[in-house]
Amino acid sequence: MQQWYYTSGKKTYKDMEKTRARDRARYANDPEFRKKKRARTLARQEVRRGRIDIEPCTLCGEGGDNVIHHNDYNLPRDITWLCPPCHNAIHATLPTF
Ligand SMILES: [Zn+2]
Ligand SMILES: [Zn+2]
Repeated sequence: MQQWYYTSGKKTYKDMEKTRARDRARYANDPEFRKKKRARTLARQEVRRGRIDIEPCTLCGEGGDNVIHHNDYNLPRDITWLCPPCHNAIHATLPTF
């Protein structure tokens, strides 16, 4: 059990490091990415503070652990709640986001 935990934890940590390094590079070079990141951070803060409630998926009505989708990253409060599968589906049709 402990062995399994150790191995999978190591892999996750490595992946996180890779993602973080990529994010850092984009953050430095990509103003659009900075805008998106700020919008996401702001929305998450609002959820934590209880100012935004987690809502069912706008497309399929799925409740639970839904994610925030931004229609326009210039409008951090213009958000749509989607379940992870619908969020992936919507992004597959939106090449710019
Ligand atoms: Zn959905
Ligand atoms: Zn989205």
